[in-house]
Amino acid sequence: MKSSYLKSTVAALIILGIILLYPCLRALKNLDDRSFSGLTMGTLYNVQIVGAGIQETELRGLRSEVENLLRRINGQMSTYDPESEISRFSATTQTTPFPVSKEFAHVAAFALDVAAKSDGAFDPTVAPLVEVWGFGSKGSVTSAPPAEVIRKHKEQVGYRHLSVPSDASLRKSAPDIRLDLNAVAKGYAVDQVAELLKSKGYSNLLVEIGGEITALGHNKKRSPWRISIETPMPGAGVGEGQYKIVLLADRAIATSGDYRNYFEEQGKIYCHIIDPRTGWPVSNRVAGVSVIAHDCMTADAWATALTVLGPTEGLKCVEGLDGIEALLILRNDDGTYGDVMSPGFKRYIEDR
Ligand code: AMP
Ligand code: MG
Repeated sequence: MKSSYLKSTVAALIILGIILLYPCLRALKNLDDRSFSGLTMGTLYNVQIVGAGIQETELRGLRSEVENLLRRINGQMSTYDPESEISRFSATTQTTPFPVSKEFAHVAAFALDVAAKSDGAFDPTVAPLVEVWGFGSKGSVTSAPPAEVIRKHKEQVGYRHLSVPSDASLRKSAPDIRLDLNAVAKGYAVDQVAELLKSKGYSNLLVEIGGEITALGHNKKRSPWRISIETPMPGAGVGEGQYKIVLLADRAIATSGDYRNYFEEQGKIYCHIIDPRTGWPVSNRVAGVSVIAHDCMTADAWATALTVLGPTEGLKCVEGLDGIEALLILRNDDGTYGDVMSPGFKRYIEDR
């Protein structure tokens, strides 16, 4: 009698233990994740979706929808496609409203807002300077252009000559205004891909285009996504040298810097981010800037803008912006790196 009572008590305790431990055991088991990648905007894109038990056919369908979307965005904003909306708008000398897609008008309006808030450090009309410095669709150069040529091209730049008169048109008030949205287009595309996947019911995912990332929900370990910020070393390969790890959930991160796309002349580095206020590539100790924001278009634009603004002006500017945190990695004279960051950036850093 006594022993059967003991047995059933032990059995009940074991069952209770299993019930109580079940959520913990479940958490220990990693979820599935599926991914696909490809080429877009002259770089790689990568999509990772967690725990959805997605079948191969479903994944292929998603991939083809994502690629159609990316093709559409390229057709709107690629400066490398002569038939894109942006190329046709740049080519026209007409100063009356020019019809464009709502998406292109939306991104241009956003870029104008960042231009105003950064006091022209970010400028979507920077195209003539980007081209003359050899970072545009017209091909690269190996030496700095003559000062006179730079001055002439600078005269064709000025965001105040661009306006968005309706939700589906743009207008230039000077005939030689040309656009370059490469500093925001990748971030915009990342957001659009994430939105597409969200609309299909996926909530834990990561979308990346050339290092610009939106991370929604959690990863397959049910933890925030771990994103590596690289050490901004010129000539380093992708993934070489980790500066910091950040943990993100429902946030985006974008990184800009002078270490990936540049040319060197007589020991001096000329990078692809141009200060529209001087006409020259940025040269201010800033090696890399990572921005965390709620959406990737915002992070992308501000990473570029803060590279131009530099640490002092840049951090002052971030203070006045809502929902934006920044890390600026600075190059010291002895080749080492230091950094400054907005107070809120710290809470995203792993093992801070
Ligand atoms: P990102 O890599 O996002 O910083 O974008 C850099 C690209 O944006 C360059 O390759 C240029 O096409 C363009 N760009 C360069 N300087 C500026 C600037 N000051 N404002 C806006 N776009 C720029
Ligand atoms: Mg950018």
